Amino acid sequence: MSETEQTLTCAFHPKRETQLRCNRCNKPICIQCATHTPTGYRCPDCIRSQQKVFITTKWFDHLIAAFITAVIALFGSRLGAYFGFYNILIAIGAGYLVVLATKKAIKNRRSPLLKFVMSGAALLTSLVPPIYYLYETYWIEGYGLLGGLVAIIWRLAYALIITFYIYHQLRN
Ligand SMILES: [Zn+2]
Ligand SMILES: [Zn+2]
Repeated sequence: MSETEQTLTCAFHPKRETQLRCNRCNKPICIQCATHTPTGYRCPDCIRSQQKVFITTKWFDHLIAAFITAVIALFGSRLGAYFGFYNILIAIGAGYLVVLATKKAIKNRRSPLLKFVMSGAALLTSLVPPIYYLYETYWIEGYGLLGGLVAIIWRLAYALIITFYIYHQLRN
């Protein structure tokens, strides 16, 4: 009889013998404790810590995040109306503020959904003022569409930059 074939007992049920080990932390686990994942069996501890990394948000965090993003993105978009080319800098500054303020407000909790909620809110709110401007000048005041588009080109750049900036910052 070889000594290497020692019997393992489940780390969570000391009386149950088992052959399985968690493929992450190597703890012996019984079949009842094991969760089958695409990479192999995992113990309850590893499953729990894995979920913690991915989803820690409370349900209202997405609302708070969307609200903060909308307020800052809208303010930046309005401000950008007077600054042409500098919309690029305003977009990065506003994006930075959005990420900072949101992380603080929701205490660094995270979820895979958050980046979509926030970049979506940023895109919508930063597009509304320039599109409304276009609507006003084109439909109401009768200026050419091309002239209107040229007038809002930097504000469209603002919308794209702040959206991608936020998405990029939150992608992990
Ligand atoms: Zn484990
Ligand atoms: Zn067990």
